[in-house]
Amino acid sequence: MHKKVVLITGGRRGIGAATALQAAAKGWDVVIGFNSDQKAADAVVAQITEMGRHAMAVQADIGCEDQIRRLFAVVDVQFGQLNAFVNNAGIVDSATTVAELTGELLERMFRINTIGAFLCAREAVLRMSTTRGGHGGAIVNVSSIAARLGAPRQYVDYAASKGAMDVMTLGLAKEVAAEGIRVNAVRPGLIDTDIHASGGQPDRVRRLAPGVPMQRGGTAVEVANAIVWLMSDESPYTTGSLLEISGGNL
Ligand code: NAP
Repeated sequence: MHKKVVLITGGRRGIGAATALQAAAKGWDVVIGFNSDQKAADAVVAQITEMGRHAMAVQADIGCEDQIRRLFAVVDVQFGQLNAFVNNAGIVDSATTVAELTGELLERMFRINTIGAFLCAREAVLRMSTTRGGHGGAIVNVSSIAARLGAPRQYVDYAASKGAMDVMTLGLAKEVAAEGIRVNAVRPGLIDTDIHASGGQPDRVRRLAPGVPMQRGGTAVEVANAIVWLMSDESPYTTGSLLEISGGNL
């Protein structure tokens, strides 16, 4: 395969790390963005290097525009090309109702999950667009079924931040379709990662799994496989899609 480079934000653990490893297994060189925990990021890089691919970890807070610019600039300098971008970094907060939300909580949620995702997509388009000297490519946004369900009494703020990502996927896909860039999103359901503990509910997957039609949570690898397919040449006519990976939780 011709050498290809993917940048994945939030790549030090969970769905991002699984995507990094699956992409490397398919022959991609990988840059992972991470916010905290250099050691965990380095461990993912080491696994990829052992697979014979080039990899690098770059620290960048996706809630900060300057750091996003720097992240992509490092890819330019170190790899000289960008063929795919995975907008994976994201947060949930403690479960709450809209009545209890504060402006501060909302600002943080949208700054990272929505504005950060938009700004990263912009940087990817600037590099991939054939009308801007790029060679085309693919963007995969990691949304959530929460965008469709609304997540009442849990995370309406999070659901709305992912809803905006879905609309960005639809609009941007059309905007850059003639510029060689495909833009798709995956909408994972209940996936067994540390994000639930980060939101104060470490037992969330076990508790809610019986309500999923398949009666289990999904794995990060199950989501990663779909992401890698969407960014690959095996999905050349797929753009503007919102792919549900939710064990039938529709
Ligand atoms: P995770 O393990 O918590 O991964 C989230 C990643 O995002 C972490 O690596 C985290 O890095 C990074 N991140 C958070 N804030 C950041 C910031 N300001 N700057 C840079 N990176 C930041 O959870 P996950 O389940 O793999 O989540 C990956 C994506 O899937 C998220 O967008 C999430 O919304 C989405 N998703 C997950 C589920 C699920 O059930 N697990 C379902 C639907 C959608 P640090 O920890 O270093 O900050």
